[in-house]
Amino acid sequence: RTTVVNGLKDRAQDLRKSFIDSLEEDIRDFLINEAELHTYDDLTKVNPVTPSTVLKCLQARYSAKVFYTHAGCTLVALNPFQPIPHLYSLDVMREYHAAPQPQEFKPHIFIVAEEAYRNVQGQVEPMNQSLVVSGESGAGKTWTSRCLMKYYATVAASSQKCQDTVEKIERRVLGSNPIMEAFGNACTLRNSNSSRFGKYIQLQLNGSVLLSLRFTHEHEPEMMKGATEKQRLEWMLPLDQDFAWLPHAEKTLEEDCLQETVEAMINLGIDESKRTQIFRILAGLLQLGNVDFRPASEEAQTCDLDEHSKGKTADLLQVPLDELQSCLTVRTLHAGKQNVLKPCSQSECSVRRDCLAKVIYAQLFDWLVTFINNSMCADSSMWCNFIGLLDVYGFECFLLNNLEQLCINYANEKLQQHFVAHYLKAQQEEYVTEGLQWSFIRYQDNQGCLDLIEGSPSSIFSLLNEDCRLNRASDAKQFCVRLQKELSHNASISWDKFSKQPHFTVAHYADKVSYQIEGMMEKNKDPVPPELISLLQNSQDSLLHSLFADGDHESEGLRGHSKVVTVVSKFRNSLESLMKILHSTTPHYTRCIKPNPDCRPLTFKREEVIAQLEACGIVETINISAAGFPIRSWLVRREIRKWHKAASVIQTKWRRWRVWMDALAEAELDDAEDFIENEASSALPKLDRLLKERGSVQL
Ligand code: ADP
Ligand code: MG
Repeated sequence: RTTVVNGLKDRAQDLRKSFIDSLEEDIRDFLINEAELHTYDDLTKVNPVTPSTVLKCLQARYSAKVFYTHAGCTLVALNPFQPIPHLYSLDVMREYHAAPQPQEFKPHIFIVAEEAYRNVQGQVEPMNQSLVVSGESGAGKTWTSRCLMKYYATVAASSQKCQDTVEKIERRVLGSNPIMEAFGNACTLRNSNSSRFGKYIQLQLNGSVLLSLRFTHEHEPEMMKGATEKQRLEWMLPLDQDFAWLPHAEKTLEEDCLQETVEAMINLGIDESKRTQIFRILAGLLQLGNVDFRPASEEAQTCDLDEHSKGKTADLLQVPLDELQSCLTVRTLHAGKQNVLKPCSQSECSVRRDCLAKVIYAQLFDWLVTFINNSMCADSSMWCNFIGLLDVYGFECFLLNNLEQLCINYANEKLQQHFVAHYLKAQQEEYVTEGLQWSFIRYQDNQGCLDLIEGSPSSIFSLLNEDCRLNRASDAKQFCVRLQKELSHNASISWDKFSKQPHFTVAHYADKVSYQIEGMMEKNKDPVPPELISLLQNSQDSLLHSLFADGDHESEGLRGHSKVVTVVSKFRNSLESLMKILHSTTPHYTRCIKPNPDCRPLTFKREEVIAQLEACGIVETINISAAGFPIRSWLVRREIRKWHKAASVIQTKWRRWRVWMDALAEAELDDAEDFIENEASSALPKLDRLLKERGSVQL
């Protein structure tokens, strides 16, 4: 008996020791080595892949001044907020361009650029490409787009022998950028035109030659900076004057910006007289921003405008002063065949003033886009492939959210759906090439959320539009009740019982966002009073006049009598057409991350970063990868759990044996031997099986 017991003891001890030793080794392998964390080039290969390890990895890389990291088929770009010498030099561009396998180089935006460039010229099957650059304001989207454009200008030029061509290409690609940036980056009129959500530029290629850019879907403007004294006089912009629509900081920034814009305009063939007209109109808008209204003194009288700004605005926009005054302060109501004039309140006047500025800006901007496209685009009859560059607003969640955020987040929701579909397809292909069996991944499908926002027959958009179509007097509470009645079956919408404001909460893929309803219906209507249009049609300025000449522009809803096209319908149509283009291309995703809110160099705030990783869907990507790469993470985690369990089983058994053995030895029972045999025959095979299994699992 003693022999049996000792044998069992020894065997169990051996098993336990070797088993636990090897288990520890395995676990050590699986857990990330903190010291080497920065060496992981792809976040989906960090093990275990969780938001926390991924964050650690990004932070380690950032500290090691490594700013680009793959996350599956996405590139994550951390903003260094300081110039990084040599990272973007011509030599580096050429290196990536010349490499047989650029993917094997360190992660870089140039890998994305080069991959798209090779695909678009594919020998067998050239395919249009899209580069989607997203991130919150200040994350580095514009920087990244500029980087991509410089890359293409450089590599396309390098395939040309003639220096002339090289310069021409560079001028073409980069030349239009300052104009689009000057006009496209609003901080003054931000959110003024919520039907725009980003910037889409097409780089057209023919063979290896870059032909041109095509702009569509732009967003809003920024006023000019750095005018000379003479120009300031001409545009009636004295240096010491403050402008309501120019934030204070803007005035000292980038003094050379105007000169650059002028040069770009010259390069694009906008002649001097047109340039003067454009800047005069912009100056007129600045003055318009300063127009203030004093409440009417007596009943039935109109508000008063301050003389100074009013006069300058009328001069610069070349419109009759009295007409400017009346269209800002008096509304014309149509009652049957009669027109009734009704004075506007002070706040209504301000709304009309802002509306006038917006409509001028939007038309001028569209005119510029058309001009640039016409002056640079390839003959449309020519066969042409393109690389599309989309610089898109990131997911937004503020304290107060309204229609602008709903539109932006809806656009992001759409892009996320497109991304996930593409990502899963790419993974499936990878599985097939690796000879792995495809297991279906369960992931968060955001179709429900999209149905909630834009679906039919009823959705948030359809109810907003109905409100507008029926011309209901907008009442936030009633609208909230309608939403609850029509949409509460959708799991993506909810209401906070304790909130006093009429609102609704949408569970977006990135986060839950509460939208206030107050003001949303008015924003959706966004009407342009017909008096404002007719004022502009009477302008003596030929450019301004032509922008609003009847039938000369396409923008629906501009003329007061035409059918009202709501903001959400415009937004949706514009997004649909963009999605159509995206679907016909191979997408490449770059997610820009702003590592701290104060734009401080090399400062990494974990909470900031994780929130953005969530907002741009990286966490979602990580979850999909974790589910999708069984060998890399999911299986490993399951195995670890299994081993932990096995180890504790052994320990429990071992303890139990010892108690039994001791008790048996003491009691000297007759059937002790049988009992031990039984115990052994049931326990040992189990252990053996576990060990065999372990050996057969490829970790
Ligand atoms: P966004 O367009 O997303 O609002 P920007 O592209 O304008 O952000 O970038 C914000 C700031 O960060 C800019 O001043 C830019 O110089 C800086 N920046 C962004 N990316 C980089 C980078 N890769 N290297 C150095 N500076 C950068
Ligand atoms: Mg930008």
